[in-house]
Amino acid sequence: MPTYRAPRGTRDLLPDERAVFDRLTRLATDLTERYGYRPIETPLFEQTAVFERGIGEVTDVVEKELFRLAPRTDEAESWALRPEPTAGIVRAYVQHGMQTWPQPVKLTTTGPMFRYDRPQAGRYRQFWQFDVEAIGDPGPAIDAEVIELGHRFYAEAGVQGVEVLVNSIGDPVCRPAYIATLTAYYRGHLAELPATEKDRLERNALRLLDSKDPDMAGLNAAAPRITDHLCEACAAHFDSVRAHLTALGVPFRVEPGLVRGLDYYTRTAFEFYVSGREGQQQALGGGGRYDGLVALLGGKPTPGIGFGLGLDRVALVLAEQGHAPAATAAPLAVVVGADPDDTVGRLRVASRLRAERLRVRADLARRKLGRQLEAASKDGAHFAVILGDELADGHVQVRDLQAGSQRLVALADLARELARAETTHRHG
Ligand code: AMP
Repeated sequence: MPTYRAPRGTRDLLPDERAVFDRLTRLATDLTERYGYRPIETPLFEQTAVFERGIGEVTDVVEKELFRLAPRTDEAESWALRPEPTAGIVRAYVQHGMQTWPQPVKLTTTGPMFRYDRPQAGRYRQFWQFDVEAIGDPGPAIDAEVIELGHRFYAEAGVQGVEVLVNSIGDPVCRPAYIATLTAYYRGHLAELPATEKDRLERNALRLLDSKDPDMAGLNAAAPRITDHLCEACAAHFDSVRAHLTALGVPFRVEPGLVRGLDYYTRTAFEFYVSGREGQQQALGGGGRYDGLVALLGGKPTPGIGFGLGLDRVALVLAEQGHAPAATAAPLAVVVGADPDDTVGRLRVASRLRAERLRVRADLARRKLGRQLEAASKDGAHFAVILGDELADGHVQVRDLQAGSQRLVALADLARELARAETTHRHG
């Protein structure tokens, strides 16, 4: 057992897995460009109040899972690692006066999030999210566009059978009455409530609906449904979101128990699942509308909607569904030499080829040519560039390791020759 290990709940993404994350991140960048989002990067930590005010103090994420940084005695402020990106992005929106930009402001980011959760499969203390936020459009059309973007991300990533669950969780007009109804319902079943849920009941009954406790499943299934208590404006909004989703051909199901774990959500809430795996732990991603958040964080009232998709879970599902990780790219050529000590020569040739954008390894081990060639074959390289006596008049031998043929090439032509081989190799 090594002395030092990655902290509990974190893991190292070794090259094969990191390559999967790279692919997903590139897809996120490409997709968001198509939909008109611009990248943003906010700090990995914020003033704790940004999360307490924004996400809500009576939420799992803030109450139990917030990664608080130990304060130094001489500092008045307290900080916490971001558990999700929305609060920080909205803080930036307000701080930089983005309310004066053309609306909606469409922003995207991908990066690590932190939650001090009990680690288990698919639940880590550091995990990755691909996130989009569209701030300044009250919807409902953009709600459907955002959901469709998330759905397309999974499809293009190669995840099969992703289903969207949607709900409306009302707004400050209709939600208070619903929460009162819900609270009365749970009070009627007080004896059946686990202690932690009892404790939360008077503070935020919605959190009970969102409970991960299996003992709550039966009670929650029979609970009053928010969709039966929406005000006219929220009901019309929800109808329209569904009509847009249908028109776009996005498969979805209304899930009245879906309330999302963060206080800032209003109206549209949604989650993505692999069909048949709708357990609480398995959500691939989720999001919703947050019409009150900008004002909560000190801006003038501005509606917004966004999502956060967990990349760790996408990687897990891709592996489960037999999606092979991207093969590691073998070098096109390895530069080897007859003189084991001439590492300078091998590096110089490799360096010139790399400047021409070719994937090249220089063999830097001081070993016999035969051993260098063996290693080149093992690498899966297409060519070995062999430096020998011909170097004196500006030539090298190029061996095609796959065909077994070899010919003399002028150094001046080398990059062009290899590049041509690369093109035919890729497209042939
Ligand atoms: P949430 O805002 O909690 O719904 O999180 C959005 C998405 O982030 C989830 O659907 C997961 O895919 C992912 N996620 C949230 N928490 C974790 C975690 N602790 N470990 C890994 N992924 C997570």
